[in-house]
Amino acid sequence: MFCPRCGRAEQVPEAYCRQCGVFLPDLSKPVKREIPPDEHLKANTFLNALTVIVSFTLSILLFAIIPNKHPLIYVTAGLLIAIGAWHIQTFIRTQKLNKQWKRRTSLNEIQPASPETQSAFKSASTGKLLDQANFADSIPASVTENTTRHLAENP
Ligand SMILES: [Zn+2]
Repeated sequence: MFCPRCGRAEQVPEAYCRQCGVFLPDLSKPVKREIPPDEHLKANTFLNALTVIVSFTLSILLFAIIPNKHPLIYVTAGLLIAIGAWHIQTFIRTQKLNKQWKRRTSLNEIQPASPETQSAFKSASTGKLLDQANFADSIPASVTENTTRHLAENP
C-alpha cells in the first residue's frame, strides 16, 4: 500500500503514514452505514417500554406468587420498581428528544435552498447547514474602501 499524499510505499492500513503522518484508512473494509438518530430513538423507546413492563410485571409476580415473604423478596421487588421508574424517565426523555428531532428535520424541510447554496452554507466538519450570515455585524464597506484608497495614495 502506498501513501496517497507523499507516495511512500510499504504502508500499514488503519495506521499513520511513516513519512508524512497522514491517517491511512483500510479501503478494503466496507464502510459502515451510519444509523440515523430517529432509528436510535425508536429502538430506545421500544426497549424502555419493554423494560418498564417486564420489571413492573416481575415485581407484581414476586408478591402475588411467592407466599412466604422473605426480606430478600422486598429488596428484589424494590430493585425491579427502581429499574422500572428509571426507564420511565428515560422513556420521557426519549420522547422529548424525538419531538426535538422531528421539529429540527421539519424546519430543514421548510427552507429549501438550491443545491449550490446548500453546499456553500454547509460546515466542512459536520456537513450540517450553517446559520445565515448576519451582515449587520460586519464591517461597513466604506471602512475597507477608505483603507484601500489610503494605501493606494500612500505606498
Ligand atoms: Zn505519507
